[in-house]
Amino acid sequence: MILFIFVKDHIGLLIITSGKFFKSEIIFMKTQGTKSATSRRDAMKMIATGSAAGILGLFRSPLFQAASQENKEAPAYAKGMPAVKISKVRAIATAPAGSNLVIVKVETTEPGLYGLGCATFTQRAEAVITAINSYLDDFCRGKDVDNIEDMWQSAYVSSYWRNGPVLNNALSGLDEALWDIKAKRANMPVYQLLGGKVRFAVPCYTHASGQTPEEVITSVQKFMAQGFRHVRIQLGGYGSVGTLGNNPDFKGVGFGAESDSFMDQRAYLNAVPKMFESVRKACGEEVELLHDMHERVEPIDAINLIKKLEEYHPFFIEDPFSPENMEWFKQLRAATSVPVAMGELFNNINEFRMPMVDQLFDFIRIHISQIGGITPAMKVARLGEWFNIKTAWHGPGDVSPVGHAANCHIDLATWNFGIQESVSFSDKLQSVFSGCPTMKNGYMSVNEVPGLGVDINEKEAAKYPITTKSNWIVRKRDGTVIRP
Ligand code: MG
Repeated sequence: MILFIFVKDHIGLLIITSGKFFKSEIIFMKTQGTKSATSRRDAMKMIATGSAAGILGLFRSPLFQAASQENKEAPAYAKGMPAVKISKVRAIATAPAGSNLVIVKVETTEPGLYGLGCATFTQRAEAVITAINSYLDDFCRGKDVDNIEDMWQSAYVSSYWRNGPVLNNALSGLDEALWDIKAKRANMPVYQLLGGKVRFAVPCYTHASGQTPEEVITSVQKFMAQGFRHVRIQLGGYGSVGTLGNNPDFKGVGFGAESDSFMDQRAYLNAVPKMFESVRKACGEEVELLHDMHERVEPIDAINLIKKLEEYHPFFIEDPFSPENMEWFKQLRAATSVPVAMGELFNNINEFRMPMVDQLFDFIRIHISQIGGITPAMKVARLGEWFNIKTAWHGPGDVSPVGHAANCHIDLATWNFGIQESVSFSDKLQSVFSGCPTMKNGYMSVNEVPGLGVDINEKEAAKYPITTKSNWIVRKRDGTVIRP
């Protein structure tokens, strides 16, 4: 049954239908003032004459259709998501594989909904934990989980002085956890929110090292058999320290600390071209070879070494200069066309701007938690697209599985992706972190669980306490500290 109701310039239809129960619905439409409106007089006429056609026309009018749409139940996608607030932000520290790892857990007002982010600054973990628990928690409580950009921008300036590595890592933990939460709410993996996949999985490089070129060759061949097409080759200890030259004079006289490392820069400069020559001869031309200089030789020596490596066509040479020596890049570019990766020690995304504009390097080598998380990393990645500079996110053992997953989600959605550094996740690590990225045939993949896809077992995490003993000092023969 339909009843007509007139109130000022509106006509109302009271529609009563019968089913299991009586149901009524009332729809008001404006009858004057718009071109398509049916006038009150016309409507009265229809009713008076019982004009079926007229009433039918009224039902078909755009106003009726629109009014009807408003009163229908909205589809699920159009309902929007209820507001969710941050209830607590806290740090979880663990070291199942030896390196200190710090995770940020963002808890919310929605029961069971939380996010995880990587805040791992392994050398100063306790400082990051204090920044999270003593400052970030208070800053975040009661704020909307959805406004990631605003949270990032406001946290970035909330201490007035710009963030350094401690605060940036805390900020990264928050940022990645908010992306995790947003993706969980959207019921999709994070890479979908970043634009979706541009590749089916993420090509990775792994680390081959040894005390001699022969040991390096054996290691490269092992990884090639596993399907890796990109391998980083290093001689000596990590960062080429320790074993290239022995018995440093500073140790003999007790200068520095017992744990300080020694690097013979000349021995390193002589050994690296021989290593490349040996590996190329033994492993062929198909494998891509990478090498990290770790910023540990004089800038002019770095340039001469890279020129020598040209004939072995490396995929890239990483970190030739310390951050204090950026001006040397122009000379390097003029001297050689070997691709260069740079930026692991940068703190602020603005440090990438001019080198990218000047195309001083080819790969962006960012430690994502070091610059503040997914939000700033995506900005640098997208800027790189304009200059054909590719990504090569830092992915060593002092990145947590949550951080590795964040790397991988960005890689999947970034057109100008270059290569990803990978590590394997030990059984101990996987007893603490479930859903770790997986490696197959040289490719890394994330699972399709909503969010970043990695969870933490806090009881297991507590079994592996972190340590504050984490210093890495490398000296020359006379004891002078070498800047990485
Ligand atoms: Mg490096």
